[in-house]
Amino acid sequence: ERAREILESGARRGSNRLGVEAMDLLDAYGIPTPQGDVVSSPVEAEAIAEEIGDDVVMKIVSPDILHKSDIGGVEVGVPVEDVRDTYEDLVVRARNYQEDATILGVQVQEMVDLDNGVETILGMNRDPQFGPLLLFGLGGIFVEVLEDNTVSVAPVSENEAKGMLDDIDSAPLLRGARGRDPVDEATLVETIQRLSQLVTDFPAIVELDINPLVATPDGVQAVDLRLTLD
Ligand code: ADP
Ligand code: MG
Repeated sequence: ERAREILESGARRGSNRLGVEAMDLLDAYGIPTPQGDVVSSPVEAEAIAEEIGDDVVMKIVSPDILHKSDIGGVEVGVPVEDVRDTYEDLVVRARNYQEDATILGVQVQEMVDLDNGVETILGMNRDPQFGPLLLFGLGGIFVEVLEDNTVSVAPVSENEAKGMLDDIDSAPLLRGARGRDPVDEATLVETIQRLSQLVTDFPAIVELDINPLVATPDGVQAVDLRLTLD
């Protein structure tokens, strides 16, 4: 099974921390991710960008770098002609941050339309007493500031997943406040259930964060991933 392979390849590297290199895990559970790939050279990065055929997002991929944007490890809106130079820049910044950081490569990713979307967070923390606790809330830069989230024990039913949307203070934002189109709630609910299934199937995952999970009127896109294995 594909999902198991991804987790095992992480474990083989001797790292219990996985990042965007493990995004296929989400695809395997039907959680949509933007088009893209993790590559290990500027030339390969350029090839992916050409395949995407538009400006791209580029991110450093390293188990030693938890918050990529904090160290200048995320470049948004990179034109194809700048992709090779940007690859080198990202690696230099990572090395400046930590000389001996393990660098797995760079992710080249399709741009997601944040203007028409809401950045949410969908995560899991395994509690010794209650088991896997799913967390859903407002994501992106607002996570720490607003702390608008809700928690449910996995596995969650469809109604429980729906209830998580109702629970957060920002629910009106999802439902089209300020003349915006409402986000695709059915897909969001389904995504919460799919993550619930994933963490139920893999007890070895002790912590997982999709931040942001961008919710738009057309569906959802898991833009970033971080997880810890026990
Ligand atoms: P990290 O959380 O490690 O800093 P992210 O992958 O979450 O890295 O990227 C940081 C921010 O950059 C996101 O919260 C989002 O606002 C923006 N971003 C990342 N990927 C994309 C994308 N594919 N399209 C549009 N914006 C993006
Ligand atoms: Mg993130």
